[in-house]
Amino acid sequence: MAKDGPCPECGGTSLFQTAGDFEVSNLLPGLGTLWTGPKATFVLCADCGHLRAFASEDVRARVRRDESPHWDPVGGGSDGA
Ligand SMILES: [Zn+2]
Repeated sequence: MAKDGPCPECGGTSLFQTAGDFEVSNLLPGLGTLWTGPKATFVLCADCGHLRAFASEDVRARVRRDESPHWDPVGGGSDGA
């Protein structure tokens, strides 16, 4: 997966990731459920500080289903309409 590759910013390989998913309601508005906030795994490059977030599979499924009014397809692409 992409998160296992080198840092896209500096090419560094000194990468650290969070142990398990973290709830990140402020970063992924509207993509949680009534019971749990949206979750993501973070990868931090210790060489340059670049921080990447990878949304959980649940979160990605919800954004694809257009379940949150906070998210629009980039580039004006249609979501099936
Ligand atoms: Zn880096």
